[in-house]
Amino acid sequence: MLVGRLAPTPSGLLHLGNVCAFAGAWLSARAADGRLLLRIEDVDRERARPDVEQALRDDLAWLGLTWDVETPRQSARDYAPALARLAPRLYRCQCTRAMRAAPLPDGAGCQGRCDGKGYATGAVRFRLEAGSLSFIDCRWGPQHADPRRFGDPILVRRDGLVSYNLAVVADDIDDGVNDVVRGSDLLEYTAVQMQLWSALDAAAPRWLHTPLVLGADGRKLSKSHGSAHVGAMRDAGATPADVWRLVLPWLGIAGATSLAEAVPRWEPSGGPLGPITVSASGADL
Ligand SMILES: [Zn+2]
Repeated sequence: MLVGRLAPTPSGLLHLGNVCAFAGAWLSARAADGRLLLRIEDVDRERARPDVEQALRDDLAWLGLTWDVETPRQSARDYAPALARLAPRLYRCQCTRAMRAAPLPDGAGCQGRCDGKGYATGAVRFRLEAGSLSFIDCRWGPQHADPRRFGDPILVRRDGLVSYNLAVVADDIDDGVNDVVRGSDLLEYTAVQMQLWSALDAAAPRWLHTPLVLGADGRKLSKSHGSAHVGAMRDAGATPADVWRLVLPWLGIAGATSLAEAVPRWEPSGGPLGPITVSASGADL
């Protein structure tokens, strides 16, 4: 059975880029008669806010982005077992912020500096294997990437906080997720995460990266694009049908005004690759 997930981060309000990715996950699960999970990604506890989480839940409900079961939030999970399994490929990194910001030797990650030094403290990094990696994205087609150009990912920060990279992979494996639909900003980084899936002896999921949605200034949607947020659009008088009329064409479904109407027309490879630029104002609807 196909198992997908909605995985909102309660540090920022729901914007049109999130809606596009969540709609893709929802349609992918519903069209396959699969299961859809909700997981609150609050691994970065310092940035997670209860009021933002409630607003996210309200926005999801308003849009009809429902789920079948909610799995434990990241802050309630124990990542020690995953770290123990990855131990042979972990090392402590004592690079300073400035060293991390400096250009790395070609494809070396931090290995030339800290790997093999046997430091007892510092951030925990995962040693990537060399060589390019291929996978198929349902929308983008065959992808080839050398994950080492990103450098060895940090799995545990210097202050002990588990990173998103470890949490998202360990959670997807624990939750039995086999269909990951998310924004294209993570497309290239998928190769890094696939090494984690493999090192945890799990088969990688099916990947689908939805179009990146940019503000009129050409930048990824963020807090500064207030009017591209679902709550702001609702306050400006937009209805869920207005939102779907705007967003569903980005997934290749034009003219539909509800998710239910879109299900029979869902094609994972449909729609533009993106990026999509929105003037992003409720008043435009
Ligand atoms: Zn280092």
